[in-house]
Formats: sequence, C-alpha cells, structure tokens
Amino acid sequence: MFDLHVVGAGPAGSFAAITALRNGKNVLLCEEHKQVGVPTHCSGLVSASGLEQLKDVVDYTSIILNTITRANLHGKNERMTLSFPFPKAYVIDRAKFDEMAVEKYGEEGGKIKTGHPVRSLSDLQSHCIVGADGPISTVARLFHFPPITAYSSCWQGVFDYSSPDLSAVEVFFDPSWAPGFIGWVIPLDEYTAKIGLGVTKKGCLPGAKKKFITSLRLSQAKPISEFSALIPLSVRKKTGGIFGSHKVVLAGDAAGQVKASSGGGIFFGAQCGRLAAKYAGEPAKYEKEWKKAYGADLALHRLFRSTLDTLPAWGLDAWLMSMKAAKIDKWLMQAGEMDEYSKMLDGKALMKLARTWMP
Ligand SMILES: Cc1cc2nc3c(=O)[nH]c(=O)nc-3n(C[C@H](O)[C@H](O)[C@H](O)COP(=O)(O)OP(=O)(O)OC[C@H]3O[C@@H](n4cnc5c(N)ncnc54)[C@H](O)[C@@H]3O)c2cc1C
Repeated sequence: MFDLHVVGAGPAGSFAAITALRNGKNVLLCEEHKQVGVPTHCSGLVSASGLEQLKDVVDYTSIILNTITRANLHGKNERMTLSFPFPKAYVIDRAKFDEMAVEKYGEEGGKIKTGHPVRSLSDLQSHCIVGADGPISTVARLFHFPPITAYSSCWQGVFDYSSPDLSAVEVFFDPSWAPGFIGWVIPLDEYTAKIGLGVTKKGCLPGAKKKFITSLRLSQAKPISEFSALIPLSVRKKTGGIFGSHKVVLAGDAAGQVKASSGGGIFFGAQCGRLAAKYAGEPAKYEKEWKKAYGADLALHRLFRSTLDTLPAWGLDAWLMSMKAAKIDKWLMQAGEMDEYSKMLDGKALMKLARTWMP
C-alpha cells in the first residue's frame, strides 16, 4: 500500500503527485491511458501569470506555440478589444505540458503506472486518495460525491485559417452561436487556428457548430483534427470526505474547479492539485483551504457566466458598449486578471479604475 494514490495524470493529478512526493510521501500516480497527455481535449490557452506559478514543475517556455497580447470580445454587433503591452497568455502544447509534469515527477523519484485505470474500489492502492480523473470522475462516482450540476458540451477543430491578427484571441458571446457558453478562435500560426465553441443546452451542439463555422466562412473546410469534450461549469457541493477507511479528496475537473467564464482549468486544477496533496489526509481541511485560496475567484467566474446568461444578444451588445463608455476596457488593460478575478477587487486595482475616470 502507498501513502497516497493519485488517480489521473492530468495537471491536477501530476501537481498533486509531485507535491506529495516533495513532502516525503510514498505516492502512486496512475493513468488510464498508455501515454500521458493524449488524447488532448484542450485549447492550451493559459495566462502568463498562471504559467509562471506552475513553473517549478513545468518550464513552459519550451512549449509555447503562440503568444497572445490581445483579446477581441464579440457580442452580436458590438466588439471590445483588450490590448496588453506584454504577453498576457500563451498557447502551449498541452500534451507536452502533461508529459513534462509527469517526467518531472518521475525524475524526482515518483512512481507512475500508465495504462492503469481505476474502475472499482479494489483498484485503489492506498487509504488516502486524490481523485484527479477529469470531468467524469470515477473516483467521485465510487464514493458517491454529489454531482457536477452544469457542464458545457464543447467541440474544437484545428483549421487552415489565417487569423487577421496572430496575437489576438477572438471570443464570441453571442448566445445564438454558443448558447450558455462561448465560441473561440485561437491562432496557432499564420496558417492554422483552433476554432471551437461550447453550449449548455442538451442536443444543440451540432446546430450551433454549423452556424458558427458558417459565420467564419468555414462550412466547406475540413478540420485537420477535431474533438468533442465536456467542461464542468459548477463545483461539486462536496470535494472531500472520509468513507470508512478511505480519505478521499477531488481536484481539478473532477471537483469542478474550472473557470465557468471560459472553461480554463489548467491553472486552478494544478494549484488545487497541490492543495489536495498537502491536505489529502484531512478532507475537511482541504475543502477549507482550496476555497480560501480560490473559492472567491471561481465564484466570480461563475457570477460572470450567470450574468451573461441573463442577457439576450442585444443586451450583450449593450453590455460591451457600456463597458467601453465607462472605460472599463482601459482598466482591464491595466489591472485585468484572467484567472484570479479577486485580485481585481483589491485596493491597488480599484485605484487604477478610479484613475481611468479622472479628468
Ligand atoms: C474544448 C476544451 C478546451 C479547453 N481549453 C482550455 C484552455 O485553453 N485553457 C485551460 O486552462 N483549460 C482548458 N480546458 C480545460 C482543461 O482542459 C481542464 O480543465 C484540465 O485538463 C483539467 O485538468 P485535470 O487534471 O483536472 O483533468 P484532465 O486533464 O481531464 O486529466 C484527467 C486524467 O485522468 C485520467 N483518467 C480519467 N479517468 C481515469 C480512471 N478511472 N483511472 C485512471 N485515470 C483516469 C484521464 O485519462 C486524464 O489523463 C479546455 C477543455 C475543453 C474540453
């Protein structure tokens, strides 16, 4: 038996495993697929500030595919541009990110079993478990955790597509294109881009996808590659517990620790994975600690999403127009955070907002 069994070798699992290892624990990391990082169900867009915080495990500088300094936010007819004088985010090779995290864990002496799924309680090799096994978590099911109540069904393709601005991501909020979520174009280079969207209404992904790619004049184009996958948009009511002799905590997508605004989950998954390892033997403490660190941020992302959900298409345009009229765009360019929204509410950031209004 091991001190800790981490199930799933995505960002949450590998960061949990390496943290436990660094704390002197005898850890097993297991992954159902033979190769870590594939298949990849992700756009790989991560904030520069987030990647910096994960650098002790993955030196992301060698896996950057594109540098992002601009975001164009689209309503139905209205658009708001946020431009930054520095790299705000990077498109990284997501498969390599996962591979490098596990390699680092291996270099530091960690044990990993690939091609090794957990299907039943008898597959568990410790009484202390981190369930980091993604949006449809087997660990959560085995221990009867409360469900994730909202998901976005997403599709993404890599297309031959020349983005007019290589350093800009395009984000589409129009609910007639991406009801309940967003659409995106993320340039990879001069010739290719990741194009995708998510919806929350059951059964409407194929229709929404058709409408979206037609609007981008891609209805005749065949994607170079494509996939569909789920993004959790709500946190489970409970993310840790003691079940007989097992102490179990959930991290990353398995817990629903994902930005409901954009679906980004690499940063929060990895950071909560670290906390899951630190407090694996104390599930109640884990829950308290991750909520203290990131609960407000995830709640603010959820609030942002819920607010958008109340707006019709014309309301989204009005929202973008009023943001520009109130110079919120100028403030976001100075103090905007992609992950930790709560930082935008601290005194320094709010002073910057006040300054944008000064005559
Ligand atoms: C279309 C799309 C685009 C996205 N784009 C971005 C983006 O640009 N930026 C961003 O930050 N996030 C993005 N995300 C979200 C991001 O991919 C996830 O939030 C992130 O992967 C969560 O990491 P994780 O370790 O919790 O889960 P995962 O990465 O899903 O890892 C879970 C691992 O567990 C393994 N596993 C599952 N079940 C078992 C089992 N029973 N036994 C053993 N192993 C198991 C899986 O094979 C997998 O390797 C996107 C998601 C989607 C669907």
